[in-house]
Amino acid sequence: MAGALEGKVVLVTGGGSGIGRAASLVLGREGAKIMVSDVDTRGGRETLDLLGKMGVQGSFVQADVTIESEVEAMTTRTVETYGRLDCAFNNAGIAESGKPMTTDYTLEEWNRVIGVNLTGVWLCIKHEIPHMLRQGSGAIVNTASINGLVGADGLMAYVASKHGVIGITKNAALEYAKKGIRVNAVCPGYIRTPMLEASFASDPGREAVLIDREPVGRLGEPHEVAEAVAWLLSDAASFVTGHSMVVDGGYLAM
Ligand code: NAP
Repeated sequence: MAGALEGKVVLVTGGGSGIGRAASLVLGREGAKIMVSDVDTRGGRETLDLLGKMGVQGSFVQADVTIESEVEAMTTRTVETYGRLDCAFNNAGIAESGKPMTTDYTLEEWNRVIGVNLTGVWLCIKHEIPHMLRQGSGAIVNTASINGLVGADGLMAYVASKHGVIGITKNAALEYAKKGIRVNAVCPGYIRTPMLEASFASDPGREAVLIDREPVGRLGEPHEVAEAVAWLLSDAASFVTGHSMVVDGGYLAM
């Protein structure tokens, strides 16, 4: 049976780790050709090896989503390699060290988080859309977070960046709705990835606290977010645009 993304060309940023790697594998399973992109070349190449073992056609392009020339080169390389760009998963992001209060932030730390998580998503959309417009079709999913919908103590810059991703998603969806391009966001809850595990290393009690807060009594797995992304990018979601899909084990239902 044909997969939900058979023959589509999908660009995945942050594809060298966590949710981006899981998405690359799930989208590949659904028949897509994957352009894996990451600032981390080693992680990106590992994802490519995993795709190869599945028999999925894939390539890797190194790019830092905060550098416009690299983002432009990333989208151009995708089209040069596969002839088109059907879908994009703009997922690269960073955590922040966390500050108790807004007044504790330096401008440098604020700019670092906003630069990757928000400006990076905007730059990706900016350079993906022209290719999709030429084709007359496209689907984009941006990674926001439950912290794009509610605040979180000590995470001012991260919360602002993820609320911004939801804003960008809505606006781009409206701008391109009549041009055949859909733009949605996914809002993961607490997902067991290297990003979250790094925070457990610096705060050993945190894992138990987060599990205790989760209605389903466990953390999410990266592939559980990836399945939502695959559906949003597929033609099965043809009437869905401007939506922020929560994948959080019921966390925000509380
Ligand atoms: P992850 O395992 O750290 O993966 C993120 C990947 O993005 C890493 O390979 C990272 O490379 C890369 N990256 C960082 N900065 C980049 C840049 N400037 N340009 C290109 N790539 C860059 O984290 P994850 O948990 O999978 O997170 C993926 C997305 O989900 C992020 O947007 C995150 O905010 C969001 N999210 C995660 C959770 C969660 O609980 N895990 C919850 C909600 C939302 P380096 O390792 O070299 O930095």
